[in-house]
Amino acid sequence: MRILKFGGTSVGTVQSITEVADIIQKKHSKSQGLVAVFSAMSGVTNKLIEAGNLAATGKSSYQEILKTIEDRHFEVIKALVPVKSQSAILARIKGEINDLEDFLKGITYIQELTPRTSDFLVSFGERLSTQMLAFILQERGIPTEYWDARKIIKTNSTYGCAEVDTLSTHENIIQNLNNTEVIYCVTGFIASDEKGVTTTLGRGGSDYTASILGAALNAEVIEIWTDVNGMMTADPRKVKNAFSIPEISYSEAMELSHFGAKVIYPPSLIPAFQRDIPIRILNTFDSAHPGTIISKTVAQKAYSITGISSIDDIALVNLQGNGMIGVAGVSAKLFGLLADNNISVILITQASSEHSICFAVEPTAGEKVRNILERGFRSEIENGEIENVSIQYNLSILATVGEGMRSSSGISGKLFSVLGKNGINVVATAQGSSELNISVVIKKKDIAKALNAVHESFFEIDGFTINLFILGPTGLIGRTLLRQILAQREYLKKEKNVSIRLVGMTNTRKMLLNPEGIPLDDAIERLLEDGEVVNQSEFFEDMQALNLSNSVFVDCSADKNIIQYYAPLLQSNISIVTPNKVANSGSYEEYALLRDISKRRNVKFLYETNVGAGLPIINTLQGLINSGDQIQKIEAVLSGTLSYIFNTFDIDRSFVDVVKEAKEKGYTEPDPRDDLSGTDVARKILILARECGIKLELEDVEITPILSERALAAPTVDAFYQVLEEENEIYAKQIQTAHEEGKRLRFIARFEEGKAKIGLTAVDATHPFYSLAGSENIVSFTTDRYLHNPLVIKGPGAGAEVTAMGVFADIISLSSFLA
Ligand code: ADP
Ligand code: ASP
Ligand code: MG
Repeated sequence: MRILKFGGTSVGTVQSITEVADIIQKKHSKSQGLVAVFSAMSGVTNKLIEAGNLAATGKSSYQEILKTIEDRHFEVIKALVPVKSQSAILARIKGEINDLEDFLKGITYIQELTPRTSDFLVSFGERLSTQMLAFILQERGIPTEYWDARKIIKTNSTYGCAEVDTLSTHENIIQNLNNTEVIYCVTGFIASDEKGVTTTLGRGGSDYTASILGAALNAEVIEIWTDVNGMMTADPRKVKNAFSIPEISYSEAMELSHFGAKVIYPPSLIPAFQRDIPIRILNTFDSAHPGTIISKTVAQKAYSITGISSIDDIALVNLQGNGMIGVAGVSAKLFGLLADNNISVILITQASSEHSICFAVEPTAGEKVRNILERGFRSEIENGEIENVSIQYNLSILATVGEGMRSSSGISGKLFSVLGKNGINVVATAQGSSELNISVVIKKKDIAKALNAVHESFFEIDGFTINLFILGPTGLIGRTLLRQILAQREYLKKEKNVSIRLVGMTNTRKMLLNPEGIPLDDAIERLLEDGEVVNQSEFFEDMQALNLSNSVFVDCSADKNIIQYYAPLLQSNISIVTPNKVANSGSYEEYALLRDISKRRNVKFLYETNVGAGLPIINTLQGLINSGDQIQKIEAVLSGTLSYIFNTFDIDRSFVDVVKEAKEKGYTEPDPRDDLSGTDVARKILILARECGIKLELEDVEITPILSERALAAPTVDAFYQVLEEENEIYAKQIQTAHEEGKRLRFIARFEEGKAKIGLTAVDATHPFYSLAGSENIVSFTTDRYLHNPLVIKGPGAGAEVTAMGVFADIISLSSFLA
């Protein structure tokens, strides 16, 4: 004997019912003794409840619902039953619909929908679908017999979720369903009590019907046909990368379904477990897929946990007080009160101090629980032994489940670490002593992020995804970065298991966000064509609201207005990577705040490209400091522009010509004085000084200016050139003197004894900066360890390619931190 149960979506449309009929036909030709259990067509149970509620308020608008229910069944019959045979089944369905209508009319008179009448009302759903299915199969030449489960499944009278009387139910089943020649078509979900009044087995209860039948008939297997490829590592609607679990134990399946994996109704596992009957979960829409087998013993798993599930909306009740310490019986009384009032408790935790007990319930039960407890513990509350009952709402539970937890350590460490790295606060936690489940209570707004991050960390061992947001993708650095990522993504995936998903972009005109990912190969076109008109603060708010795991924001601008968003982003655990040096060279207070947040929230703020573009200057300096070296002195040429100008300037050239040439070659800002003023260099040496732990402000950096007051004050660039020409003598003299002394002019930034200074210096051939060429940058660190022979880093310190590379390297470095 085999039991096949088809859920709501499997019997929801003409197309799905065709699949169902094909599956049954195939099974029928291969084996004898089939029982098919059907749910109501998808959505019908909810619609019936809605109709009942409308009727209970005296409204006749339930008629529309009736009409849709009728139409959906008629549509299937007309499509799948030959015309000549249709009238019989159409009449039967119409008869049921008429009864249903009479019943709803009755409700409008009494204006009350009790759990008892509601059970009768929803029973129409399964009765309609199953009669229809039995007829369709019969018409295909498969012998069927329709059974209303109310005749065989007996329960107590707890309407809405009745308890099965196993003994009488088994007897009824064995006596009535004993012909292996026919396929019994049985209504799921519904049953009846001692007096024959209709009851139901709880929402999702058709699975339970199948399991009860399976146990009574000692079936070889119970097949649950649904709309996914078995039980999966997480709800595929919430975690895109979830995959099906080939084998799972009854207890694991029980835990997962108890904590929200709706694919199987938890009580269904018990009858099957007791008789050791395997349950197979299969996909009606992909019938060749092996799905999941649920049984007692399972093979060793490839992963340390088996699955993750969640209950998205719960309330957490906290009972606390000194009177609870060491007093036996407080929990007994508490849970006794809850049980007496039919409150089901989803999760319980108690601190070892016994000072408080915390438990989760359905949010709709929250206020009822408060009343029950306040009444039940009145005297304890009055004499101060127990404080008031407190309830927190808008919470979710995430549960990680697996037998493998027993044998491996570090699972909870990994779970809490991944939640922590994603800035998800754990409100409460529980681990059963069976070590089958570790559950955490978190804010509801974090559940999607938490599910994905935890899934990624436990199951996607061959893949880690960074969710990237770029500001300034149309600028030179942004464009180059996108191109570099595109060119490198195959390698990163294959060799480093890292994927980069571009989720958001904005420039000064447009913004675009897509959590599914924006194709990298035409990202800019997408931004320009599909992007909305930019609203900067909205972009940042949306980025935070998306709340994606492993989010990284890259600021490719030099815009000082963006800096205000850095702190809130870090607060939301979004890492920042930036070549924009404004944040690090603004006020010290601001600088310290960003570091403070990043330390407290354990989120990364990376800015290697702030100094010397892609040259590894900041990382090297941090490495020296972190490993205990003492920085004695930093000397550096930190401007590619000034480097070029002074490498080119010689006794045979006038200074103004060199400046003009640098500008023509595109090495300078539009106004070369922006480079020559030394401010940019000052910002860079300030950042290095701050890295060394010195509290400096930009004004503290002493700049010995290259240009005269007059040159700086000239109203236009041409006027400035004019002044330079007039002052040619000053520059000519400097270069002449240097030449005579065998020296060269370098614009050097120095940090020594807590002070930062910048100025033009003549260096001789023994100095490491003497041989600098082109637009190179150079930094020399004199430290305790590199005392007589400083550590020197030299190379191109500007340009889109090397800057984008530095940003890219920072992004990649995050993967090992976040994974
Ligand atoms: P049916 O109508 O066939 O009874 P349900 O809607 O009750 O189907 O259950 C199937 C749904 O359960 C899936 O579509 C899926 O979204 C959800 N689900 C939740 N958690 C899981 C999980 N871990 N594995 C598979 N499906 C899950
Ligand atoms: N039709 C019922 C429900 O929607 C039972 C089931 O589908 O399992 O809850
Ligand atoms: Mg179901």
